[in-house]
Amino acid sequence: MISTILIIGGGQAGAQAIDTLRREGFKGRLILVSDEPQLPYQRPPLSKKFLSGELAAERLLFRHQSFYDDHGIELKLGVRATQLDAAVRKVVLSNGEEVVYDRLLLCLGAMSRQLTCPGADLPGVHYLRTIADVPQIQSALKPGTRAVIIGGGYIGLETAATARKMGCLVTVLEMADRVMNRVVASNVSEYFAHEHRTQGVNIICNTRVVHLDGTTKVERVVCADGTSYEADLLVVGVGAVANMQLASDAGLKCENGIVVDEYCQTSDPAIYAAGDCTYHPSLRFDMRVRLESVDNAFEQAKTAALNILERPTIHDRVPWFWSDQFDNKLLIVGLSQGHDLQVTRGDPATRSFTVCYLKGGELMAVEAINHSKDYMAARKLIADRARPNIDKLADPQVALKEAF
Ligand SMILES: Cc1cc2nc3c(=O)[nH]c(=O)nc-3n(C[C@H](O)[C@H](O)[C@H](O)COP(=O)(O)OP(=O)(O)OC[C@H]3O[C@@H](n4cnc5c(N)ncnc54)[C@H](O)[C@@H]3O)c2cc1C
Repeated sequence: MISTILIIGGGQAGAQAIDTLRREGFKGRLILVSDEPQLPYQRPPLSKKFLSGELAAERLLFRHQSFYDDHGIELKLGVRATQLDAAVRKVVLSNGEEVVYDRLLLCLGAMSRQLTCPGADLPGVHYLRTIADVPQIQSALKPGTRAVIIGGGYIGLETAATARKMGCLVTVLEMADRVMNRVVASNVSEYFAHEHRTQGVNIICNTRVVHLDGTTKVERVVCADGTSYEADLLVVGVGAVANMQLASDAGLKCENGIVVDEYCQTSDPAIYAAGDCTYHPSLRFDMRVRLESVDNAFEQAKTAALNILERPTIHDRVPWFWSDQFDNKLLIVGLSQGHDLQVTRGDPATRSFTVCYLKGGELMAVEAINHSKDYMAARKLIADRARPNIDKLADPQVALKEAF
């Protein structure tokens, strides 16, 4: 009999798991431990409308306090889980408390990868992951502020767009030869770099930051080729790594994240994991992945909750992700690794186009730029392993769903 479920991590996955567990009728003790002092909130607006001040903090919350009260959720906020003893099903918290569970769900998320170059520990080197990171960055977002962003990935580019909209003089320094190089096609990178440059963002690729300089705080970023950039504001967005220390110290199997199966179960049958911290199987793509996306956290949390309640459910979803930069919406669905053909529908000059990836004739991923129709159609087509007619696929006049 499962009488106590303990969830560690109050982000997207933790919040969703609570919802599903109570909605599906779990009446026992339900405890949420989170090291952030806030009620669970949404992270995506932190680099977008919350950073620009267009969205109030209240609007980020998944649920208000009354929901947790009404549903009998024991919230332990601002408290960290420091030790897991899987043999006796016990977790030790940073306040000294010990919690014994019947089932444990780890929703630990990911942490920002830290810069390691000299000067990286100077005050004023900002990362953007939690709501607590925002005020200091936000207070510098004023006309004329020289903002340097290290990293041209999603978070770096979204932050750059927000800072530019607020009048900052923005420079993005990217080590690779193009922005978002790990996640999108080269013509999509080119498109976004062009959009940023048109708005006045200085994007510099093929540059490696080797040193941060300053007396009482960071003032300058120095690159390997000797160039340097004065910075009133410095934000680092160079990727994230899974929070898995708690799990690996407890002997759970971990690789690129906490290893789970398609039921979101870890190597310990009483422990499940969901969201950014997991290294999980993608059944559609026959590979293991670690994803940082709202959709994945949401879906895995639901799956884990149902399995904890002994209703066998498989996580078998085609992943998707979005990014907002200036007035552009990038929607990505599927996984493009291993593709053998790439087809672009439409002309980037029209500011609306789609890149399709195929493998062995099957559609496997789509990057839709300001084209939600293609994205919507692709979600089903990819799941169905649909095989397009290539001529029709390449013709933007033919609706994507009619190309099969
Ligand atoms: C700035 C930003 C913008 C983003 N934009 C997008 C977007 O546009 N689209 C999209 O799909 N995704 C976006 N993401 C990613 C998305 O927010 C994450 O994929 C999602 O939040 C993952 O949910 P999660 O529950 O796995 O982890 P998180 O939401 O990160 O929650 C994990 C929680 O666990 C806590 N925790 C960790 N260890 C412990 C411990 N030992 N004890 C107690 N608590 C612990 C953490 O502090 C955190 O509060 C963005 C992320 C960021 C940071």
